[in-house]
Amino acid sequence: MRISVFDMGTCSYGYFSQDYRTPSKKGEKVANHLGMDFTYAVGTVIISHVDGTCLFANNEATNWNSYCFIWNESYTHIFGHIEPKVSKDGAVKVGDVIGVIKSFPDGTTSHLHYGVNRNKIADFGHADKSGKWGWGRCPVDKTTSDADKYGWSDPRMVLASMALAKGKIYSVKLKHK
Ligand SMILES: [Zn+2]
Repeated sequence: MRISVFDMGTCSYGYFSQDYRTPSKKGEKVANHLGMDFTYAVGTVIISHVDGTCLFANNEATNWNSYCFIWNESYTHIFGHIEPKVSKDGAVKVGDVIGVIKSFPDGTTSHLHYGVNRNKIADFGHADKSGKWGWGRCPVDKTTSDADKYGWSDPRMVLASMALAKGKIYSVKLKHK
């Protein structure tokens, strides 16, 4: 299956989703969510919805360290928990393959994490469940205005305005509040 974030109709956890704050496992620190999660099978091919440049790509055994950043002159688009198929400084066009969804060895459901930041960021540090700021999470006591100061935006709003610019309507179903 090949799909872009524009066509992912159901989001399991959204930006700053309240339900995300409940740790799914013992010992896991609570955190706020800096993006949208879309549940898909391992191996699902993620294609780009933007023209841009790859600022960062990393693939490691730990799923938390496998992600890439695509800059499209307006936002850095973060694609997490994937095996990137793009390399740093490489050009990306709409429809190009960005990466493939990886499995979580810890039993977490395989998914794409998609985040958006206004700043051109080469790396923001990984979301290591430590409760600090990372590419996917921030401390539980922070708010959307705190996140905004660091350039983080609600991806749903960004996708909606990008779609509107093309005369389309973006819609997504949120599974958790
Ligand atoms: Zn996520």
